[in-house]
Amino acid sequence: MKELEVKLSFENMRLNFVRWAFAVAVLGILIGFSPPASSQDTPQDGAEEKKVEEKKSDEAKDKKSEKKGKKDEEEEEEEETLEEVVKDYDKIEGLFTFYRNKEDGGLLMELSDAQLEDGIEYIYHGVTLNGAAEVGFGYILGSYRRPAILTFSKRYENIEIVKENPSFYFDPDNALSRASHANIQPALMAVASIMAKSEDGTRYLVDADSLFQSESLTQMSPSADPGHEGSSDFNPGGINSDKTHLIDVKSFARNSTVTVDFVFDNSAPSNYGEDDITDGRTVTITYQHSLIATPEPGFEPRLDDQRVGYFNQRITDLTDTSVTPYRDLINKWRLIKKDPSAALSEPVKPITYWIENTTPIDYRASIQAGVLAWNSAFEKAGFKNAVEAKIMPDDVDWDPADVDYNVIRWVSSPQPMYGGIGPRLANPRTGEILATDIVLEQVYATNRLIYTDIFDKAALPLWTEGDRPDLSKNSIQAEMCSAGLVIQQNTLFGMASLRAQGATEKEIGDLVKEGLFELALHEVGHTLGLMHNMKASQGVSYEAMHTAETKEKGYLSGSVMDYMAINVNADRSKQGLYYTVAPGPYDDWAIEFGYKPSLADPVSEAARVEALLGRSMEPALAFGNDADDMRNPAGGIDPRTMVSDLSDDAIQFAIDRMNFVDDRLVDLKSTYEKSGDTWDNLRTAYLILTGQKAIQSRVIVNYIGGVYLERTVIGQDGAKAPYTPVSGEDQRKAMAALEEYIFAPNAWQVSEDLVQHLQKKRRGYEQWGNEDPGMHARTIRMQSIALSVVLHPRNMQRMLDSTLYGNDYPPAEVLQDLTDAIFVADLRSRVNSHRQNLQLHYVGQLIAVASGDLGHSFPLQSAALHQLRRIERMERQAKSPDVATSAHRGHVRYWIETAIYGEASRQ
Ligand SMILES: [Zn+2]
Repeated sequence: MKELEVKLSFENMRLNFVRWAFAVAVLGILIGFSPPASSQDTPQDGAEEKKVEEKKSDEAKDKKSEKKGKKDEEEEEEEETLEEVVKDYDKIEGLFTFYRNKEDGGLLMELSDAQLEDGIEYIYHGVTLNGAAEVGFGYILGSYRRPAILTFSKRYENIEIVKENPSFYFDPDNALSRASHANIQPALMAVASIMAKSEDGTRYLVDADSLFQSESLTQMSPSADPGHEGSSDFNPGGINSDKTHLIDVKSFARNSTVTVDFVFDNSAPSNYGEDDITDGRTVTITYQHSLIATPEPGFEPRLDDQRVGYFNQRITDLTDTSVTPYRDLINKWRLIKKDPSAALSEPVKPITYWIENTTPIDYRASIQAGVLAWNSAFEKAGFKNAVEAKIMPDDVDWDPADVDYNVIRWVSSPQPMYGGIGPRLANPRTGEILATDIVLEQVYATNRLIYTDIFDKAALPLWTEGDRPDLSKNSIQAEMCSAGLVIQQNTLFGMASLRAQGATEKEIGDLVKEGLFELALHEVGHTLGLMHNMKASQGVSYEAMHTAETKEKGYLSGSVMDYMAINVNADRSKQGLYYTVAPGPYDDWAIEFGYKPSLADPVSEAARVEALLGRSMEPALAFGNDADDMRNPAGGIDPRTMVSDLSDDAIQFAIDRMNFVDDRLVDLKSTYEKSGDTWDNLRTAYLILTGQKAIQSRVIVNYIGGVYLERTVIGQDGAKAPYTPVSGEDQRKAMAALEEYIFAPNAWQVSEDLVQHLQKKRRGYEQWGNEDPGMHARTIRMQSIALSVVLHPRNMQRMLDSTLYGNDYPPAEVLQDLTDAIFVADLRSRVNSHRQNLQLHYVGQLIAVASGDLGHSFPLQSAALHQLRRIERMERQAKSPDVATSAHRGHVRYWIETAIYGEASRQ
């Protein structure tokens, strides 16, 4: 309401400088994005905002104060022209023209009639150039914001900046298109009052400081995380407009950039952050706004298809009456053949990556090769040398801020949130990729564990329920890539394995470079438009993992867009590839789908595309993205769509890996007894190796109750039913593997000598508390990961539901086998302390399932209750050779009896 009143008052206002000062003050309110200070919504921020407004008002007054006296006299006679206002300013020319005050650095922006015309659109792009990991994912170097379509228009004496909504399509031939704005209102982002006009009346000047140093164009303040309300998360506070300032303005032919240091203040934080936060009360985020010209026509958009994984623009056709009125367009580069008639042609303009001179010299060749390896995939789509990778010289004359340059940079952050990211900027209207940057983190190539401070979590990059962030409505680009972290974990595992196998440092160095190559391939894949394909590792057979033929082909997975396990052979003499070093068959196929030029005739083109996509049931072309994968205990249903697995027999691969780990642990200590070293290398190796067992248990456990998922069109070659339960045989094999490697009494047994040396180097006072390695806590954590998946209400319900369409391993039998795996082996002997923890943990979970408190349905509750009675009987008849076992068995029975008969609370 208030905004509307203010705007109306603007419209009646005659332009003069006194009023302009007032207008800028009000503009501060309008474009500040937040309610005025009197609002009761955010009392804490209210004062802050009031300050912002006062500041803006003061600034505006200051700016004008020198000229004001003079102007007061002249105002009724003549307004100052644009040319007069900026005569002593620095001019920055390009897509948009800016003027910068030489004395106070103030920034003005010029808009011409041509830029304000109806239908002239610009793409808004935001990127964090520097920041702080603690503030959140969108606040670290290289994070892209979701792009937007902006238009500028003149309404009386104001310039309005509007964000358009590109999510809907109306067929122009349909009469409905005349109502295409029904309930789809664009967003008015800012209103800037015109300060001066050019002499010829075609160009207008507005205050750019208010526009770019506020949250008008993008949200800078982090949103509260609804899942963490009242937590002690780091809180940067609100934007301090006194401290926020302009860093840089650039204007190129196709884009203009304005870089601002947004400074956040929190006068009394409860969490001061880690070492990377210099002072917890104030944090600076360097952010670059870009305004980009709409690309020339001639780009050929391509409709998305559920069988291939491209990032896409979600567009709904509101004139289409079908059940799926989608016109989603994939993200792809504009690649046009120089010679359209040639089967293989170079592109008019290749996709060029510049490897920034920050990249360690040793790694440049691997990164360059990783980028260029994509050319083989483009050749199958008809393009030769589609991708270029150049090393950026130290004396370049171009600027990385120019949208025309795609840069691969290398950084070493104190708290890396990723090992590498490959965000891309795509035109929201067409899906055309316009720019991209890849950032790689040095941590990838180090031995540093990311979570070393928590022994029981270290080396377990697994999600628990609720970990999956929902950024879908946020302005921050939602995709997250953990490939770098996974590859780092893999490389640490590979290095520990190779050391334990007596490999040379040269061999270990080669492994590191192979991992780097895979990382580069993966991140470049994202910048070409490809999303994750967590099912791809099913695309190569278990038998082919270490063959010469596979080594020659260069891939261990249908796609490099998966997070694969590293491929390490227990027999060094038969070692094949460790990592994937070439795009796989899925990658070739996806690139052909995305990039092969269309046929002129629409009917032939549709047939061509369908013939290509009709191959989707070929094993090497399997696809499933992050939304399908089973990292989250309650997410996904197809166990083949999973991270950290490998080959088309992931269960057997996992069993091999767990055996391999157990063998390496036997002599682990001797591998790291290097004179002069602390025991940190041993400790890291222990965490990494045992962590691999836990990760592989997560791969295996998904098969219990798993359902194979297929997405095809009816009549397609090899099409199967969308849902097919995993065979009972494979489910039972998974259960048996869990019993042997995760739940068995000796599953986590290591020598006393090893445990005695799992020490971390002292740093200051960090050893506060219990420095003992805490073996019991780590073991039960790793065991409970698998248990929590089997017993999750959604998974158990699926075990039951899928009995209606072929599952022959119903939940009652699953629990029967689980009880046997956890209780039978030591019924007649001592129950060791790890097993005591496990058995009581399991009983506690069964009690929760039986109670129905977690949402388990009646048949599932019955199955759990049955197991509780059975365990109680088994324990009554069991032998207790020592007092600890006797105490434990009594404890188990006490829990069950009180749970069933309610005689007393076990708390
Ligand atoms: Zn990724």
